Amino acid sequence: MFAIFGDICHLCGHDGAGEADHLVPVALDADQPVDPYAMRPAHGSSSPCTACPPRNGKPRACNQERGTGAIVAPLRTSQEW
Ligand SMILES: [Zn+2]
Ligand SMILES: [Zn+2]
Repeated sequence: MFAIFGDICHLCGHDGAGEADHLVPVALDADQPVDPYAMRPAHGSSSPCTACPPRNGKPRACNQERGTGAIVAPLRTSQEW
């Protein structure tokens, strides 16, 4: 997945993302196939974003922050990454 999309967090746009965030949360669809195109890089609790301001005094973990919620700003790009 990282070989395809690099390490730019799809939730905040900064680099250094270390987790794969499922576009359809696993909690909502636990039987989904492992498909790298169904995931995007995101900062997680093990690799929080150092560029975003802390949330609640902790480094931002975009993946956990999103949880099972919808992606606020759907990613629409006109060019390949
Ligand atoms: Zn992030
Ligand atoms: Zn960030």
